[in-house]
Amino acid sequence: MASYNIFLLPGDGIGPEVTAEVEKVAHVISGAGLAKFEFEKGLVGGSAYDAHGQAISEADMARAQAADAVLLAAVGGPKWADVPYEVRPEAGLLRLRKDLGLFANLRPALCYRALAEASSLKRELVEGLDIMIVRELTGGVYFGEPKEITNLPNGQKRAVDTQVYETYEIERIAAVAFEMARKRGNKVTSSEKNNVMKSGVLWKEVVTDVHKKSYPDVQLEHMLADALGMQLVRYPKQFDVIVTDNLFGDLLSDVASMLTGSLGMLPSASLGAADASGKRKAMYEPVHGSAPDIAGKGIANPIAMIGSFGMALRYSFGLIEAADLIEKAISDVLAAGLRTADIKGDATSSVSTSAMGDAIANALKKAL
Ligand code: NAD
Repeated sequence: MASYNIFLLPGDGIGPEVTAEVEKVAHVISGAGLAKFEFEKGLVGGSAYDAHGQAISEADMARAQAADAVLLAAVGGPKWADVPYEVRPEAGLLRLRKDLGLFANLRPALCYRALAEASSLKRELVEGLDIMIVRELTGGVYFGEPKEITNLPNGQKRAVDTQVYETYEIERIAAVAFEMARKRGNKVTSSEKNNVMKSGVLWKEVVTDVHKKSYPDVQLEHMLADALGMQLVRYPKQFDVIVTDNLFGDLLSDVASMLTGSLGMLPSASLGAADASGKRKAMYEPVHGSAPDIAGKGIANPIAMIGSFGMALRYSFGLIEAADLIEKAISDVLAAGLRTADIKGDATSSVSTSAMGDAIANALKKAL
């Protein structure tokens, strides 16, 4: 039986509560003889700062580098609002993304039938929705230099951020999107603002080249990012895979997330370049934060975290059937009417984090 080493970073707030539920699901998969998982635990964010004054220690960075996959819950909270900027909780997350070279952020927006009412859009627009947003994560305006605020002689200030992309950065993210599309609906929508930005002109050119050279079998369309934002709320089911840069990806994936109802439902994956054996560095995390308002109450929704583990099975370990069964177990439990407080809607009662985890683990056990 294959064995995988998972570096688990529960982080802050509801992190430890939701990661505990992942271990239950992993136990069911090992019990069925599909794979073994070794969980090694570390500290990131505020909890790491409290333990050793850093947002992540060198020893934990080394463990993250050595693991088959990193599974992180969330970092941050008001307790660490005043710690120095370099060691703020988010610095641990950014260091992991940067040092592991995680340039491709995959954010599925999946609307479970049973939850279509929880969306801010009409049921018929979102029911059965299944979009994958592929966001470039290590380049663009968040990292480009110069990035500064300077004082002008007239007493005013001047702020500059720099949007910069090189060919190789666009080629590799486009390849991830095309590969992904081949395993789904075979369609990629590439998005930028080539009408007003030079980086958009290059983006469109390079994506078109990659398509022509290596993926002519996949349907490709280009859409300006503002138009795409509008189409996402007008008729979201027209999309399969969307590929876009760091800034637009940040915005558009948050819009897409609201189509599905609750932050507590959404997993994500961040992938690095493939090595000679085809293996990629990877980190899996829910889209939501540490939810300090509900931390310690045992009411957080563990589905985004369990879904993130499912993505690790799919994209790092090749356990496609087990990943499909986790999604089915989640869907079955929701269809049976089980709800945590965040997705309760008009239901009269809701269950705890651990009851939801137990129900998903049991549904999975039955299916295996
Ligand atoms: P948040 O995602 O933590 O919470 C937003 C709202 O959604 C809250 O009402 C929260 O209770 C609810 N929520 C989130 N996840 C939930 C879940 N699994 N189940 C039920 N309800 C859930 O975002 P925020 O309040 O803006 O930020 C709180 C802290 O988290 C801040 O310190 C922020 O910096 C940090 N944060 C971290 C990450 C990350 O680690 N990737 C992402 C976003 C925010």
